[in-house]
Amino acid sequence: MPPHQFDLVVIGAGPGGYVGAIRAAQLGLTVACVEKESALGGTCLRVGCIPSKALLESSELYHKTRKDLAQHGIIVSGASLDLAAMLKRKDTIVRQLTTGIAGLFKKNKITRFAGSGSLAGQRDGHTLVVCTAADGSRTELVAKHVLIATGSEPTALRGVELDGDRVGTSTEALAYSSVPNHLIVIGAGVIGLELGSVWLRLGSQVTVLEYLERILPGTDAEIATAALKVFKKQGMVFELGVKVTGATLDGDVVTVSYAKDGVVHTISADRVLVAVGRKPHTDKLGLDVVGVQVDNRGRIITDNHFATSIAGIYAIGDVIAGPMLAHKAEEEAVACVERLVTGWGHVDYASIPGIVYTDPEIATVGQSEEELKAANIPYRKGSFPFMANGRAKALAQTDGLVKLLAHADTDQVLGCAIFGPRAGDLIAEVAVAMAFGASSEDIARACHAHPTLAEVVKEAALAVGGRALHV
Ligand code: NAD
Repeated sequence: MPPHQFDLVVIGAGPGGYVGAIRAAQLGLTVACVEKESALGGTCLRVGCIPSKALLESSELYHKTRKDLAQHGIIVSGASLDLAAMLKRKDTIVRQLTTGIAGLFKKNKITRFAGSGSLAGQRDGHTLVVCTAADGSRTELVAKHVLIATGSEPTALRGVELDGDRVGTSTEALAYSSVPNHLIVIGAGVIGLELGSVWLRLGSQVTVLEYLERILPGTDAEIATAALKVFKKQGMVFELGVKVTGATLDGDVVTVSYAKDGVVHTISADRVLVAVGRKPHTDKLGLDVVGVQVDNRGRIITDNHFATSIAGIYAIGDVIAGPMLAHKAEEEAVACVERLVTGWGHVDYASIPGIVYTDPEIATVGQSEEELKAANIPYRKGSFPFMANGRAKALAQTDGLVKLLAHADTDQVLGCAIFGPRAGDLIAEVAVAMAFGASSEDIARACHAHPTLAEVVKEAALAVGGRALHV
């Protein structure tokens, strides 16, 4: 049978890969996408962003119903948990979204190949991609361009063997069949705090073991410190500055050993979540077959336009440098294929927001205060607390603050960090402002509706010039 030929073969159908495939098809390319999982959508849709947000929402409602409604004068007795129903709802959302992508593929005439994609060589300026199906059968595709969008996988921790049940990653923590009595989370990063929050709200004792003396490395330190205080108040226990050295399983009990200040401690639990970061997923991709270069962290090396060291082969998302975020991968995929077709394509890395979906949420965009200091960039800072905002009071969600950083000379907004209710939605205003090169004065002078949480952003912008109104 003659090989299948396409303008573009995308390997991986996560948020980067499937969005790139759709945009390329819109631009008139013939497109195929090779995906090894039966459901499209990648880690984000199947076992990441979407299922975790579903559980975060459900667990928050459960917690609020039991603990917070009384202050509103609503007395609920006998609220109880149906974990199976909660997990089923999450699975339904995942199914709807992943099948939705299959529909988008059909609509855009994208050919889907089920199996693992690997680079098999180059011929006449084209790249050969082999799709190996679960039954071992192989299909050869010939591509004018290849886009590698294979994402990332959890990093393993030396001495802590994953058993896919009691000791697992976020994948297992999204589907525990019962509420753990005690959950040990290794790593106080995004995954650890989000999934730790889910099970804390559902009734688990949660202990977080973190290597550094702080949570959320890379996030503005003032905001991370404020968040740590609130998470502790919520009942999460933190052991910071500890080195986890091993985990042993005895029946249903896992004993984790860790060193703190040179002293070895042990702690036992019925579940352990290892969340110490993710690494690029390039396993059996055939990078060495065609000579695609990777850096010392296993990330595919690309130029500013996502071209790898081999002509015709591109890479985007978690598999290359930069933050491992679904929306970053999407932007890169669109920019990459638009450039292939139109000659233009650009990602504004300075205005990519990052969000941690705890309660309250943490959202950041641009540079942190520490980064500005390290780069010797003169800045002015304005902060404003949610405590002084009418809408936050009405919501009974007054923890947190907005912190805005602007250049001391030009007043251009350089960064923003928000810890507070709906921070993930509020940050969009600042991201758009930054994309347009706005000054703090621009945000401060824009009319913000009253009463809204967004007024806290306006007040923080006013505070940059020392003229916040409600302090
Ligand atoms: P992370 O990098 O956010 O955090 C890992 C944490 O583990 C860090 O605090 C690190 O210091 C700590 N750590 C590392 N080694 C350790 C050790 N031996 N013992 C104790 N602590 C240790 O990684 P993550 O939480 O696993 O998330 C992985 C990636 O997925 C991140 O890049 C993140 O951006 C992305 N993600 C994003 C979202 C979101 O956007 N809401 C949600 C989930 C995951």
